[in-house]
Amino acid sequence: MNYCTGIIKCQECGKNFNYKNNNGTEIYVCQTRKNRGVNACKSQIVKQQFLLDIIEKHCLDRQKNYSNSRLKLFVTTIYVSSNQIKILYKDGTISMVRPNEIIF
Ligand SMILES: [Zn+2]
Repeated sequence: MNYCTGIIKCQECGKNFNYKNNNGTEIYVCQTRKNRGVNACKSQIVKQQFLLDIIEKHCLDRQKNYSNSRLKLFVTTIYVSSNQIKILYKDGTISMVRPNEIIF
């Protein structure tokens, strides 16, 4: 299931991220990186399950009636760069992910 297309964007080059199912592992990759390689855009490739786990925990911590199928009711935009993921929620809260650090 592709839950994030349309709201996941590259903070390095501004393009959207594309969904890909890699033998059961669902990932998102920047369009520029996918078409022109890592030298054209250094944004990281992210596993969907990693994002879903963070978003679910963030929403449940706030007593929201969250489910993955309703993700777009809760999340405005997911920005991905080479070393950070920033998830903006409709209620104004933010999740930040940096190497070795997740701020719910
Ligand atoms: Zn990019």
